[in-house]
Amino acid sequence: EAKRSALGVVRYHPTDERGSRRRLTLAAELRRAIDTEQLIVHYQPKMSLANDFIIGYEALARWEHPTRGLLTPDEFIPIAEQTGLITSLTQSILRQALYRCRDWQPQHPGVAIAVNLSTRDLRDRSMHATVAQLLTETGVDPTLLTLEITESSVMGDFTTALAVLEALHDLGVNLSLDDFGTGYSPLTYLQRLPVNEVKIDKSFVTAMNTSTSATAIIRAVIDLAHTLDMTVVAEGVEDEVSRRTLTLLGCDTMQGYLLSHPLTPGELSNWLDHEAR
Ligand code: C2E
Ligand code: CA
Ligand code: CA
Ligand code: CA
Repeated sequence: EAKRSALGVVRYHPTDERGSRRRLTLAAELRRAIDTEQLIVHYQPKMSLANDFIIGYEALARWEHPTRGLLTPDEFIPIAEQTGLITSLTQSILRQALYRCRDWQPQHPGVAIAVNLSTRDLRDRSMHATVAQLLTETGVDPTLLTLEITESSVMGDFTTALAVLEALHDLGVNLSLDDFGTGYSPLTYLQRLPVNEVKIDKSFVTAMNTSTSATAIIRAVIDLAHTLDMTVVAEGVEDEVSRRTLTLLGCDTMQGYLLSHPLTPGELSNWLDHEAR
């Protein structure tokens, strides 16, 4: 593959393969994709295990690429992080998700929205101002917004992340520790972060069916979280047995294909109409 260097000299990179060329192309296209609203949101419902009510939705980013079809976040979130476009991407997802949440309030009062933040977002000291502005713009109550963060995105620069999270917490939004159990952070960090929720990673939920130690870990996480006054969400729940076990263990909320895959905006409208009946 030929690439032009800063001096305008065309260099040959024999080691570049198709994957990296695809990434370069996507990186060049991502800016425009955000500006032209090719970046859209799918919505996955979350259900209370205590009463089977739908209590909220998680916003999951999708790229409706004009020629490559629907791209999932693993293809473009890392690119957005590397190029710094993640700031605009997060803002776009937040805006779309909050407007949706505002629109369903009359029919579904109190039903919440969750949005994922990435590592760079937790280094951005104006993050709380962005969120505050969007809450004002949409009129959504801060308590209806949950921001999902991962342990690994907190770990690199704990001091800055903590300051950003505390400023967000002061707005009255909820913070959730996503992919819980997959990182290497000491448990003491859990206590130092202003989080109200932990999300047990689907790898544990999947392992639960075949491993008693996975079940023991989930039980311990639920008990610890409840001791710290946090709620617990299990993600990636795909079967009835897991759902029943999680309910017995006292898990608060479930999310997963058993209930629904992430819904397109059109599917969400139908789903919300059906829910109202
Ligand atoms: P995540 O936050 O852990 O989201 C859960 C992922 O699991 C989603 O994949 C979802 O579609 C998938 N999933 C849900 N239920 C099931 C199930 O029952 N079984 C299985 N096997 N999978 C299930 P998706 O949408 O591809 O997102 C992947 C990751 O990309 C997310 O993981 C999140 O870390 C990241 N991501 C998604 N949207 C955004 C965004 O707007 N901003 C940022 N920064 N990251 C995002
Ligand atoms: Ca998430
Ligand atoms: Ca997760
Ligand atoms: Ca996960």
